[in-house]
Amino acid sequence: MKTLQWAALGAAAAIALTACSSSEEPQASPTPSETPAVAEFPAGSTMAALADAGTITIGTKFDQPLFGLMSPGGTPEGFDVEIGKMIAGELGIDPGNIKWVETVSANREPFIESGTVDMVVATYTINDKRKEKVSFAGPYYNAGQALMTLSSTNDITTPDDLAGKNVCSVEGSTPAANIAENYPEANLVLFGAYTDCLEPLRNGEVDAVTTDNVILAGYVAESNGEFKVVGEPFTEEPYGIGLALDDTEFRMWINDVLEASFADGRWLAAWQATAGTVLPDPAVPTIDRY
Ligand code: GLU
Repeated sequence: MKTLQWAALGAAAAIALTACSSSEEPQASPTPSETPAVAEFPAGSTMAALADAGTITIGTKFDQPLFGLMSPGGTPEGFDVEIGKMIAGELGIDPGNIKWVETVSANREPFIESGTVDMVVATYTINDKRKEKVSFAGPYYNAGQALMTLSSTNDITTPDDLAGKNVCSVEGSTPAANIAENYPEANLVLFGAYTDCLEPLRNGEVDAVTTDNVILAGYVAESNGEFKVVGEPFTEEPYGIGLALDDTEFRMWINDVLEASFADGRWLAAWQATAGTVLPDPAVPTIDRY
């Protein structure tokens, strides 16, 4: 019935168009304008400034497969990178005009505070301590802290098993802070980036590596069976987009962009093209408009 109604409407529209036509020549359909329409942004907003500049500087990880990994072509790839490209696209900025800057865990707040980057999309957990220095749009994904060991290890499955063991993590990360605070019996070994932990794990200098489950899954996927993720995630790590502390307008606008992408399938498509090649599809997160 619905189909018939639409068909009838279509036919009526076709007749109306024919009736309007003043010549025998077929009417050309309206040509789309040459330049893509860029939304009008409020004067003085970060969105207007970035759209006018035609470029944006985004901080991301360069050594985390599935989320942010530098490719041989010189641009990073992964789910975080796709989220960054989507936001840039809504500002009318092509991927080729994004300036990617490597952020490691410890320099994300300083890079946002100093204006070195316009935003950070880098497996960046939203939490109250960080909210004293920066603000967060999102979350756009919910991860959880986990443990990775050699495949041959079988005496570590929970963080309680880390007592007396060497566990590697990264300075300025929430997993490192959690171990230091709640598992003081573990010997925490800290480096600047997670890839720094991989060789020590291989050669037995450390017994485990800890960070978010999905970061570890990327290293496992590339390890040819050498590494495994053990046990269940034991924290909640909601990933947000970090930006300047006082820029509520930009934060709310990014939240709108994220919500639109959840609804129209772009968020899931970005996941499936990157982290989703290894990990299951996630549930749609609930944006926190604090
Ligand atoms: N999501 C955690 C954090 O933001 C761990 C991952 C990372 O260090 O990027 O600290």
